[in-house]
Amino acid sequence: MDLALSVEQEAVRKLAEDFVAREVTPHVVAWDRAENVDRSIVKKLGGLGFLGLTVPEEYGGSGGDHLSYCLVTEELGRGDSSVRGIVSVSLGLVAKTIVSWGSEEQKRQWLPLLTSGEAIGCFGLTEPGTGSDAGNLATRAVRDGGDYVVNGTKTFITNGTWADVVLLFARTNDSPGHRGVSAFLVPADTPGLTRRTIHGKLGLRGQATAELVLEDVRIPAACLLGPEGKGFSIAMSALAKGRMSVAAGCVGIAQAALDAAVRYAGEREQFGKVIARHQLVQELLSDIAVDVDAARLLTWRVADLIDRGQDFATAASKAKLYASEAAVRCANNALQVFGGYGYIDEYPVGKLLRDARVMTLYEGTSQIQKLIIGRALTGVSAF
Ligand code: FAD
Repeated sequence: MDLALSVEQEAVRKLAEDFVAREVTPHVVAWDRAENVDRSIVKKLGGLGFLGLTVPEEYGGSGGDHLSYCLVTEELGRGDSSVRGIVSVSLGLVAKTIVSWGSEEQKRQWLPLLTSGEAIGCFGLTEPGTGSDAGNLATRAVRDGGDYVVNGTKTFITNGTWADVVLLFARTNDSPGHRGVSAFLVPADTPGLTRRTIHGKLGLRGQATAELVLEDVRIPAACLLGPEGKGFSIAMSALAKGRMSVAAGCVGIAQAALDAAVRYAGEREQFGKVIARHQLVQELLSDIAVDVDAARLLTWRVADLIDRGQDFATAASKAKLYASEAAVRCANNALQVFGGYGYIDEYPVGKLLRDARVMTLYEGTSQIQKLIIGRALTGVSAF
């Protein structure tokens, strides 16, 4: 793998860095306190092509490789994980899944809207009773003539209250486990679909996380994404690529923690010298720096495998596992460097720690990533 960025990759990274400095960083504290990112950010993201990375240009995408996607995701995560999550879900989990599984008509209907930021997508898999064990979901879609009628509840859905289209997973027959699950593209304004914002999150406070309730939601059979009964495979293939995006966002958090901690250590004086001159502070900084590099290299490897058309699922689980745990460690170490000031939201590191914490939980908890890696090593499923 060539670790040097190409001219194009460096240009897109710089574009994202400048965008974050201009449009995100000045508002981060206010958005976090208000529990609301300004929605106008979505069209700005779309305008720069960040919602269309890796999507073919014929569907309104901006093309590009997966390393470019990682670089942009890292810069967004370095600025604000709430903004990063909007892209990771609407592009990473929804648009890219439509590219892989959608009919020509579905691609033409949704991709230009999603990549421009005219529309936002959300990914509706988790339910109150099924998180890690997603294959046992209870939402049902029953065929009725040319339609399906859907009933059920989805929870913790990122972009949920903002979304125009829900990539929804529902059971279409009663066979046990995951075999009866199908995927649907459901317009969010379909009668019978109601949404409720989930407040009080520890982190990612700016993000519109929602519960979706579906009561006799009637959707045409043309909303089925991919073959009936293939929904669980579709969800798992989406999440495998999604994990690279989460890992890249975690690298962004870890890098932001490093930048902030190094800067602060060079300014704050205790015992008559800047704290950067104390050896134990240097230990905290060097621990963060090694984690940043290791997480980034694991993440880039996934991008490289995808771009070369090779199997990447286990590598994505390793990158997501390591990068998410590293992001928590790095933000926590950075907070230690800040001392008491790290505990106050005028300084950036407390928010980094709160935002990092969820990364070990969603798109498969750390335990689930270990089970995926263990299954690949042994050939035995321990779920
Ligand atoms: P559980 O599955 O109940 O797990 C509880 C604990 O048990 C965990 O420690 C877990 O690791 C452990 N555990 C479970 N099974 C095993 C096992 N077999 N072996 C060992 N340990 C096990 N979901 C979506 O569908 N779309 C979204 O956009 C989305 N966004 C989210 C945003 C946020 C902010 C949050 C918090 C969650 C989001 N989720 C989303 C849901 C997320 O993916 C789930 O929370 C996650 O999969 C874990 O499920 P759970 O919370 O039900 O925990």
